[in-house]
Amino acid sequence: MSNIRVRIAPSPTGPLHVGTARTALFNYLFARHHDGKFILRIEDTDLERSDKKYEEDIFEGLRWLGIEADESPECSGPHGPYRQSERIKIYKKYIQKLLDERRAFYCFHSKKELEEEKEKLLAAKHPPIHLCEYRTLDPAEAAMFTQAKSDYIIRFKTPSGRKIEFQDLIRGDVSFDSDLLGDFSIAKRVDVPLYNFAVIIDDETMEISHVIRGEDHISNTPKQLLLIEALGFKIPQYAHLPLILGSDRSKLSKRHGPASVNEYRAAGYLPEALFNFLALLGWNSGNDREFFSKKELIKEFSLEKVQKSGAIFDITKLDWMNGEYIRKKSAKELLELCQPFLADFLQNQNSKIKIQNDYLEKIIKLEQPRLKKLAEIGERTEYFFWAPEYDKELLCWKNMSDTELIASLEAAEKIISNFQTPISKEKIEEAFLKEIGEGDKGRILWPLRVALTGKKASPGPFEIMEILGIEESLRRIAAAKQKKM
Ligand code: GLU
Repeated sequence: MSNIRVRIAPSPTGPLHVGTARTALFNYLFARHHDGKFILRIEDTDLERSDKKYEEDIFEGLRWLGIEADESPECSGPHGPYRQSERIKIYKKYIQKLLDERRAFYCFHSKKELEEEKEKLLAAKHPPIHLCEYRTLDPAEAAMFTQAKSDYIIRFKTPSGRKIEFQDLIRGDVSFDSDLLGDFSIAKRVDVPLYNFAVIIDDETMEISHVIRGEDHISNTPKQLLLIEALGFKIPQYAHLPLILGSDRSKLSKRHGPASVNEYRAAGYLPEALFNFLALLGWNSGNDREFFSKKELIKEFSLEKVQKSGAIFDITKLDWMNGEYIRKKSAKELLELCQPFLADFLQNQNSKIKIQNDYLEKIIKLEQPRLKKLAEIGERTEYFFWAPEYDKELLCWKNMSDTELIASLEAAEKIISNFQTPISKEKIEEAFLKEIGEGDKGRILWPLRVALTGKKASPGPFEIMEILGIEESLRRIAAAKQKKM
């Protein structure tokens, strides 16, 4: 067991976002690769916006993806509690320490005053930095003010003229000028810490060795480093992951596809496909390889191979990848995976039909080469459950006349009538091809396929007839002929 301890610290203010899942995954792979620990803790100090249902969603989403935490609110551990709301006493002690040492102070500016100050600075083309005049206020006086005023926060007394430098494992040397930070806020009250403060206390007390998080947090790092220094804590190694961008290179948003892991799950993406896809969002193995099992990713993963530039979230690639993972499933596995999606589909169609598993297995196997998402299964295969509905124009191949169409359907009918269920796809195909000879295949096969499925696109008519059986196939051809008359 190594001393490597990493963490993911989501706020339960919304469903588990794919970006958070990617950060969780990189932390997880890093921990597993180094035989370290992966910690999940919940940043729920913002009680108004935090919600237990989102906490559940985070646990559930990570579990579904196969990103298991070694320590978390669910499984506990030696450094708990793992919810910030349960750690207030710990934070309070350190906030008080900074106040006592006069490294932090109470600020009594109202929101309105702060906004006016910001506007003035911006108008004068100065950076909007708040160097607070309360930083030198006598503690006894400040204590009196806190009794009298309700509007106050606690700020850190940022040292001036300091260059704050750190070595980011992905971005290399990073430096910030302390004069650009201002006296930043660390807590609303002594028992209501804010993000930058709570996070460094958690990282220290949970013995976090590496902070691997999104690049959007890089500007928080100098503030956290100053607090770490003020409290005499150990500095963790930082690795800021590249932003995730949509396919148009803008920041990933709803426009680019579902945002939450749950939505991907509901659309029928497989967890192992999403796991693989997320791992490639900013990381590669150094060659073009795209498919990795979880075990292989754990073995291959390293922070050195994480890129600096933004990672493109290409939903078309995810769809393709998911299809490839679907193809790897055995018929039995895919049947089990599809069943809940099919049940939902039938329910939405108000259908109470019961479908035999062996019939279903054949249908699913037929769709397996084309399926991209499990949730497509119902719509793609519904013609196996009930007679299709479609516009009669769809039956026509090219500019076929009514008479030609009837002739085509009758020719198919004639061939099929020579068979009996069960038939083999090969046998019936052979009979059709013999009959068509050198002629245009579409003239016979297109109207037949549409009569069977009612769809613009589907598997070929022979495979379908093999499953549908002779009687039902003939019934559908008869119905198609009726349509045209
Ligand atoms: N709650 C923060 C987030 O989810 C945690 C940031 C951090 O890892 O420091 O973005």
